[in-house]
Parts: sequence; structure tokens; C-alpha cells
Amino acid sequence: AKVLVTGATGFIASHLILQLIERGYEVRGTARSTDKAARLNQILSDYAGKPVAIEIVAADLNKDEGWAEAVKGVDFVQHVASPFPTDAPKSADELIIPARDGALRVLRAAKAEGVKRVVMTSSMAAIGYGWGEKRPETLTEVHWSNADNLKDNTAYARSKTIAEKAAWDYVNGEGAGLELSVINPVAVLGPAMSADVSSSLQLVSQPLEGKLPAFPKLSFGVIDVRDVARAHIEAMERPEAVGERFICGGDVLWMDEMGEVLRKAFPDQKIPKGTLPNWLVRLFAQINPPLKQVLPELGKKRAYSNKKLKTVLGIDPIPADEAIIASA
Ligand code: NDP
Repeated sequence: AKVLVTGATGFIASHLILQLIERGYEVRGTARSTDKAARLNQILSDYAGKPVAIEIVAADLNKDEGWAEAVKGVDFVQHVASPFPTDAPKSADELIIPARDGALRVLRAAKAEGVKRVVMTSSMAAIGYGWGEKRPETLTEVHWSNADNLKDNTAYARSKTIAEKAAWDYVNGEGAGLELSVINPVAVLGPAMSADVSSSLQLVSQPLEGKLPAFPKLSFGVIDVRDVARAHIEAMERPEAVGERFICGGDVLWMDEMGEVLRKAFPDQKIPKGTLPNWLVRLFAQINPPLKQVLPELGKKRAYSNKKLKTVLGIDPIPADEAIIASA
């Protein structure tokens, strides 16, 4: 069978592509420009240790062109592309519009082509953010982030929430008959094939490069990119995954616990130690407004259930310390 992977150049997508090939699928990718194809195939080949040459079709989430050609003759679509910048954008629409309209472009093209199933990469950002003080003790797939809460939510989390909702609305309405399954990863770590991918790797690169004095009292769920890729394939193959979203997460760690893992693995490296007092982080946020959006999370340990991931998709997550060290 043939699978289209959108945003083929990305951190998660590149692992997904290699695992799909490993399982015998024929893979096509999209990138914003076909100029990226040669470099991508080189990176994939280097990591796989054997020649990989996937076809790349140019398509941008912000444009109509390319999507019909991208889905031509494919059986499944893995819609992974979405803007994931390191810094907060000037306007939230810079993320919301491509995330939402791009997902709809992909779904419409898939429906028109008679694609069997679309698996979409959403995020924990669509589940556990913007709750303010009311966040449930343990988050599950029934929960949704509050995209209207502009005070306690980030543009990125709002974009993921709005895009995922739009996708479900589409398959429950106009796009009925098209199967959809959604993966909601927590912070994705693990081996990167090149240095210029995903913002999530900053969780490891910043302390490694000594860019933090100490850690804010923030916690993150961790999942290895290899498990995220596998979850996407299981969700594509298993009938019971249709119409479902899956929290894709393993251990939850405080940032200083991540630092501890790094300090043990790299004793010669200067890695920050200890926790910044919350009042200092709050003060920092006064001069660095994007930080304000994490303030509601300060001092609160995140908790979620990964029962569906384990039971329906059969994934037992790689331990966080392995994922962290592989990122480093
Ligand atoms: P990357 O930044 O490595 O990948 C993002 C991909 O999206 C890139 O391939 C990028 O293409 C593409 N993209 C961005 N904007 C556009 C656009 N306008 N048109 C077409 N393509 C676009 O990050 P990840 O691999 O981590 O992210 C992949 C997906 O996983 C995203 O949907 C992200 O929201 C989601 N996710 C990631 C998590 C994480 O911790 N890493 C956690 C939860 C979800 P280009 O190379 O051209 O920029």
C-alpha cells in the first residue's frame, strides 16, 4: 500500500517514513519545496544505513496547490505537518490558519481521492492547556484544551486544538466516510536525524548548552519519537483506532529531573542544577511576556492516562531517560 506523509522533513515524520518503509509500505512525502528532497533522502539514508529515495511533492499548508497531486493513488495519509516554531509568533493566526486550513486541505484532498484513512498528528497541546486553575487531575482523551483562553494558553496550543477540532468536524460532516485517527503526543524526544528539527528538542539542547541558570518548576510528559512513529502506523492499521484520539506519552518528569538524567549521562558537561523559585520565573515573565503562558503550569505536576496507547495501539513507551539521552 502507498502512504503520503505530510511535512516529510520534520523530526517525527522522518522516523515515520523509515518505519513505514521497514514495514513494506511505499512512501511519498510533501515538503514546502522540492529543493529539500535530495537532502532529506540523504539524511534518511544515513540514518537507515542503506539507500532511501522517497518521492517528494511540493505542497504548503497555506496553499491549495499540490495537495491533489500529493494524494494521487495513495491508500493512507499521515498528516504530520503543522507550524511548530521555537518563538511565539507575532500573531496567533500565523499558526492557527495554516494548522486548521492546512488540515482541511489535506482531508478534502484525501476524501476526493478515496483515501481509506487519515492519521493526524495533533498534540497534548490540544488536551491539557488553557485550563487555568481548573485542569483535571488526570488528563484523558475526553479532555480538550481551551482555545478561547488567550490569557493562559499559547498560540501553538490553540492552533493544535483548533486544527484537531476542525478535522473531527470535517469527518463527522462534509467528509463523512473518510476514516480519521488522531495521535496526541506529549514532548517528543529521542534521536534526531539532523540538527535543525523540532522545537521540542530544546528541552534537552538548552540545558546541554548551559543556556539555563537552573530549571523552572515545570513538568513535561516525555515520549520517544520512535514510539510516536509506531503509534501513527498502528493507528493506520488497526480497525479499532478509527474515530479515536490517543494520548501518546510516557513518564512525566520535572525539568530538573531531566537535567539529572543528563548530568549522570554526561558528567563532563556543565548542566544546570536545581530549581528556580517560582517568584523569579514570574518576575522574568514580566519582561518576557511569552513566558506568562507557562505560569499556570508552575509547580503543578502533569498527569495523564496512556491506557489507550497501551491497550488499543499496543505501545509500551520507551523510558524517558533513554529518550532524553538519545536526544542529547
Ligand atoms: P518539526 O518542526 O521537525 O516538523 C514540523 C513540520 O511541519 C516540518 O516538516 C515543516 O516543514 C512542516 N510545516 C510547518 N509549516 C508548514 C506549512 N505552512 N506548510 C507545510 N509544511 C509545514 O517538528 P515535529 O516533527 O516535532 O512536529 C511534527 C508534528 O508533530 C507537528 O504537527 C507538531 O505539532 C506535532 N507535535 C510535536 C510534538 C513535539 O514535542 N515534537 C508534540 C506533539 C505534537 P518545513 O521543513 O518546510 O518547515
